[in-house]
Order: sequence, then C-alpha cells, then structure tokens
Amino acid sequence: MVADAQVGEAGAGPERVFDWVDEVAAARDAAGLTRRLRSRPVEDPVLDLASNDYLGLTRHPAVTAAAAEAALAWGGGATGSRLVTGTTEAHTALERELAEFCGYQAALVFSSGYTANLAVLTALAGPDTLIVSDAHNHASLIDGCRLARGRVARAAHCDPASVRAALAARTEARALVVTDSVFSVDGNAAPLAAHLAAARAHGAALVVDDAHGLGVLGPGGAGAGAAAGIAGQPDVVATATLSKSLGSQGGVVLGPERVIRHLVSAARTFIFDTGLAPAAVGAALGALRLLRAEPGRAADALRVARELADRLAEAGLDASAPDGAVVSVRADDPEHAVRWAAACRDEGLAVGCFRPPSVPDGVPRLRLTARADLTAEQVAFAAGVVLKTR
Ligand code: PMP
Repeated sequence: MVADAQVGEAGAGPERVFDWVDEVAAARDAAGLTRRLRSRPVEDPVLDLASNDYLGLTRHPAVTAAAAEAALAWGGGATGSRLVTGTTEAHTALERELAEFCGYQAALVFSSGYTANLAVLTALAGPDTLIVSDAHNHASLIDGCRLARGRVARAAHCDPASVRAALAARTEARALVVTDSVFSVDGNAAPLAAHLAAARAHGAALVVDDAHGLGVLGPGGAGAGAAAGIAGQPDVVATATLSKSLGSQGGVVLGPERVIRHLVSAARTFIFDTGLAPAAVGAALGALRLLRAEPGRAADALRVARELADRLAEAGLDASAPDGAVVSVRADDPEHAVRWAAACRDEGLAVGCFRPPSVPDGVPRLRLTARADLTAEQVAFAAGVVLKTR
C-alpha cells in the first residue's frame, strides 16, 4: 500500500520512523546551530540584557497588580474565541486606549504579535495582491506573506527606491508594502515616511510591524508611526506585540476603523483563536497607563541603548548604532557567538545569542537589550563584560 511505503523504510519498525530527526540534529550540532532551553529561576542572579522587556515593566507592581486583578475578575482564560465569549470589557478598553495612545482610529487585540501579523497579511492580501516585503522582515511577516498566497517581491533592506521599483512592475490589482519599524537584530529603523510616499505613488497600503517601536519611539513611546508622522493615515496599518515594552503578552493591529472591522470578520487568526487571557490584557493595560502617566521611559530606553553602543564601538567592537532599544555586536561565527554569550553569563550578564536562521544576513550576533531602567553602573558593567569576554 502507498501509505505503508511512505512511513519510513519498509519493515524498519515504528522506532525508526524518526531516525531522520537525529540525522538533522547531528548536522545542526556540527554547524553550531543547536538551540537549547534554559529555565529561568524567579531570582536570576545575572543582569538581564537578553529579554525584550525594554521598559523594565514586566515586574512593575502596577503591571502585575493589574494582571492579578483582571485574572481575579475574569478568570484564568478568555473562555472562547473573541467572537464568542472571549471579548471582555478589559479587551475593549485595551483596544480603545491603544488606538488613542498610538494615534490610530481603531485597534484589535490578538493572542500574539505573530497572529496579528498573520491576520493583517492574510486578510488584506490575496492572489490579486502584490506584497513588497523588506528583505530583513521578521519571520511572522514572512509567514504571513506565504499564507496570503499573493506574489511577494523582496525589497532591498530599508530601500524605498527598491520598493518603488517593485511596485512599478506590479500586475496585480492591489499592493501592500510591509516592513518592520525597528529591525529586531540590529535595532535599525525603517524609513517609514519614504516607504509611505513610495506606497502612495503606486496606490499601495503600508503595513508596519512596530513590535520594537511601541513604547520606545515617538512621543512618550507612542510608536514608530507617531515618530514618523504617519500614524492614523488612511492607508497605514500597524501591528505590535504587547510582550516587549508593555511587559505582557499578546498582539495588536492598529489602523482605520474599516480595516479593523474587516479583520474581525475575515482574519482567520482572530476568528479561530481563543481570545487573549484576561491577565495579559490587564498587564498590558496597566503598562500602557504607566507609560501615559510617566512618558520619560521611552527616552530612557533610547539613551541607555546609545550609551551602551557607544561604549562598545569606542572599544573597537562591531556594534550597531541603535535607533531603538536593541544593540547588537557581530560575532565571528555561530560557535563564537555561543561561547561569547556563555562567557558573559559566567560573568553575570545574560545576553541574546542570534544565529541563523534568526539573522537576516547569516552573521551571528550578541543581542543586548538596553532596558530603560538600567543604571549607568549597570551599563558600564555590561559593556565591560562583553569586552572582556570577546
Ligand atoms: N514581530 C517582530 C518584529 C518581533 O520581534 C516579534 C517577536 N519576537 C513578533 C512580531 C511576534 O510577536 P509575539 O512574540 O507577540 O508573537
């Protein structure tokens, strides 16, 4: 039978079916690309520059209290999809306040930034849509492009001329230009105003993933759209995660009301996914309200990032010049990056270790998060450890 022939080598037995996994693992090991999980204890003795907790809010008492309050009020889970029972008053309040803060007509909260990106691309693009996608875009945007089933043109990184050229060659009825606002590996910002001008010249919409801009860029952290003066425009849609600056979990799409209404009825990752847990909604609301009450945090994150990058670059490291809260340092090869990150940890500093496939150009890097709440002493310590262990 055909079905039997496809299940491993004939007669090899069920215990051999996944032998190929070991072969793949051996090749991955040999290339220095194996990933390992590490459980974080409640009190981690190392200084954390590996997380995405850009504003240091995830353990802020106001954030954890808001999470607990929401869980006590609404329960441990959302109980259903957003369209059935999974929309609480807290979800609605978060959507209203996020839209207001970031400067868009409306917002829709998702269970993650990943599902928010899949939603936008699949609901706003199809076989009749050209998607022009920056070459360094996040994996969730790339997956969204694939699921959208339209033609995808890969634009050169941060290059509006390349976007224009791709749009000029389009044969499809509609087009989307898609980009990260701040790129997660090097912390560099996209030229959003120029991208929007390129999109407009060809009747396309602009989709911006502001995962790394929300809370860091723009007035008080209102995001990259606000910083570039394009938030709230009729042809701009933004997405973001609630899991970085907002210290919670979940995602959001921001844009014109009619686009948000369309997503509610058309986006599969909205319709068929359980609503975001109330505790996460509460935490995000708590963090958002803190941001609005204390708007200096965004500027602090940027200042810390620049201090850290300057110290590393002055000492001769190949460090990125950050536009957001991420500083990255190039390593020689994947093994070097792994050794370097481990040596940092031994010295009391947790840093991210980015290797293929998590880097767009194949160059492995240490990735350091410049949290807004780091002291000058902590920045000096972190730079010292990275330099000493290189
Ligand atoms: N977009 C970008 C640019 C990201 O960095 C991330 C998270 N790493 C996501 C989307 C996905 O967000 P989430 O983790 O909330 O799914």
